[in-house]
Amino acid sequence: MLVTDKVIDDLGITEPHEIDIEAIAWHLGAKVKYCQVDGCEACILGANDRAIIRVSDKVLRPRQRFSIGHELGHWCHHRRRALYCKPEDIGSLAPGKPTPKRAEEKVADNYASNLLMPWKVFRPVTRQYKDLTFDTVAQVASAFETSLTATAIRLIDMDHTPALLVSHGPNGRRWFARSKSVPERWFPRDELQRESPSFDVLFGKAPESKIARKVDADSWFDRYDADRYQITEQTRRAPDGSILTLLVIKDERMLRDEETRGWSGRRY
Ligand SMILES: [Zn+2]
Repeated sequence: MLVTDKVIDDLGITEPHEIDIEAIAWHLGAKVKYCQVDGCEACILGANDRAIIRVSDKVLRPRQRFSIGHELGHWCHHRRRALYCKPEDIGSLAPGKPTPKRAEEKVADNYASNLLMPWKVFRPVTRQYKDLTFDTVAQVASAFETSLTATAIRLIDMDHTPALLVSHGPNGRRWFARSKSVPERWFPRDELQRESPSFDVLFGKAPESKIARKVDADSWFDRYDADRYQITEQTRRAPDGSILTLLVIKDERMLRDEETRGWSGRRY
């Protein structure tokens, strides 16, 4: 059982609106203050069983909630230390070699996701939505008071639908998440292709895509057989100028395990 699930159970939480992050913090011995936090976005100072979490009053509510969850993660896993978390430490998905500091931040981020979107509450809510689109993500994000990005990643982790979530900045792909039902051979390209509608959202003035559009799979995947399939893509702008694209795979052939079709497949 996750430590966060115990907290959710102890407080009898079963619905998204009951996830009151300040009440949870209080239950765990931490008081939350909203103020200007010099040089960082949130910090925690604790002694014995009591702590104070300071969180920036300059950021949006979903971000504040995630930061409080992140600091509670440090309180649970890295106690007896004062921790000051910069904006890039919280909810950062930057690829690269994991440093000890980054590993700790990742632990704190996972704690925040598990606390704000606990599986036992998240799964039943999200299963009411048949299709995974940014409309679905936005509605779930509004129910849980979480950011679009954090919510979309959670839906991918849950394997709501066979899909990938890809983040691009002007210098190429920044990170991606892939649901478990999508085979690893579907690895997104580094660079956006001109024929993808997302290209004009990032580099031009095209509006965000209201609906998911069908595109050839080879505009996203550099594989010999990619031109045989179609997928859907939908793009949103993120607050930092990057874009977030949701790629949904509906063609069952793309989801099959390659080996089961060849001579090395299972024999009965
Ligand atoms: Zn941190």
